[in-house]
Amino acid sequence: MPIATINPATGETVQTFTAASDEEVEAAIARAYARFTSYRHTSFAQRAQWANATADLLEAEADQTAALITLEMGKTLASAKAEALKCAKGFRYYAENAEAMLADEPADPGKVGASEAYGRYQPLGVVLAVMPWNFPLWQAVRFAAPALMAGNVGILKHASNVPQCALYLADVMARGGFPDDCFQTLLVGSSAVERILRDPRVAAATLTGSEPAGQSVGAIAGDEIKPTVLELGGSDPFIVMPSADLDAAVTTAVTARVQNCGQSCIAAKRFIAHTDIYDQFVDTFVAGMQALRVGDPTDPDTDVGPLATESGRDEVEKQVEDAAAAGAVIRCGGQRPDRPGWFYPPTVITDISKDMALYTDEVFGPVASVYRVRDIDEAIEIANATTFGLSSNAWTRDATEQRRFIDGIEAGQVFINGMTVSYPELPFGGVKRSGYGRELSAQGIREFCNLKTVWVA
Ligand code: NAP
Repeated sequence: MPIATINPATGETVQTFTAASDEEVEAAIARAYARFTSYRHTSFAQRAQWANATADLLEAEADQTAALITLEMGKTLASAKAEALKCAKGFRYYAENAEAMLADEPADPGKVGASEAYGRYQPLGVVLAVMPWNFPLWQAVRFAAPALMAGNVGILKHASNVPQCALYLADVMARGGFPDDCFQTLLVGSSAVERILRDPRVAAATLTGSEPAGQSVGAIAGDEIKPTVLELGGSDPFIVMPSADLDAAVTTAVTARVQNCGQSCIAAKRFIAHTDIYDQFVDTFVAGMQALRVGDPTDPDTDVGPLATESGRDEVEKQVEDAAAAGAVIRCGGQRPDRPGWFYPPTVITDISKDMALYTDEVFGPVASVYRVRDIDEAIEIANATTFGLSSNAWTRDATEQRRFIDGIEAGQVFINGMTVSYPELPFGGVKRSGYGRELSAQGIREFCNLKTVWVA
């Protein structure tokens, strides 16, 4: 995959970049490792000052940054700006809370025959982050902010189609005051990841991306006995029961499916409607999806921009065509528009059977599958009929049903009467083939720490 900025709205190659050489990779690791030896001793107050200054810059530059995000991966300018501002929030959150999150954990010294006993969080060292293009700043910041506030240093290998966003992040953090080489962007292809991860000076890795990428990084890290966090795919259910506020559920369902042009791991992808409200749900959902304006992502009237890559658009198109050929019913969309760029319309598909690939595969685009269920048991069964377990959404005003969904859905997250959103304050991650480990919240900063047991006689 070339390292290049290619405008998804036009298909035009805007700028290409040369991958770092082996010598440059080696030098970057050496610099990161050297920096860690001093950076780990900086105070929380000092790191917080740099993180807050970075947040100030992210806010001040949000319009320009949004334009860059939109240029490289096609989301609308409004959502790109919201992403830049969310990154500022992420830095501020860890600036404010890191010290308390990583405070010593006291134990009762008498019970362990000590005069003092406690757990102390210490940084691991150089952490490699392999990141995806879909939230090109936020995905990287939710690693960078906690990892650096904990005293680690970072090397970012970003997706090859967002090189300018990757360079911007290292630049803005340097301008925020983080010392040289605390956070480096390395422009390399995925084939360079193994060499970096096997380097003894690299202590750990985090990867957000596809299952194959997660399998590869997880296997190498396992071989090297290095900790990893893997945030992989998802095929999140969005269940609607008869007691739900249907208008709110439909409006939210549309947003939940087409956010980021459907290219979000936590986008709702499978809509599961109780038979009592199924027809009404499908009719209004289809109307909502058809009403969206697809077009130039820099136009403020646009709801849905292009997909980020040509191969991504082609894959979504093939998934829809295969489902239709196997007997599924396309209720709206399903036809690639005749225009330059990698556009695909909001699409709703029903009558999907278990033998279709669409029943199990993740669709990374604005395509919704809708299922009819007779009761809550079948709703939970279909919700769990996936190898993924990232997040889930359930709409019901019945408290007993809410508890059943909270307990019964196999996922890292469950949102009742809402849609999944990542918040710095809440843990984020999955189970099953959606990965392991958690980002964000106190859990996210502790992932890249050594919880050292201290026992003093
Ligand atoms: P991808 O191909 O796996 O790319 C993600 C990152 O991994 C890129 O930096 C990519 O580099 C790198 N990579 C790819 N193959 C690799 C390998 N074998 N070894 C090491 N690194 C490798 O993912 P994508 O298709 O662009 O992104 C979509 C996927 O990410 C979806 O499945 C989505 O659900 C998932 N995702 C998950 C989360 C989450 O938090 N759980 C969030 C966002 C996205 P190159 O670009 O150079 O190939």
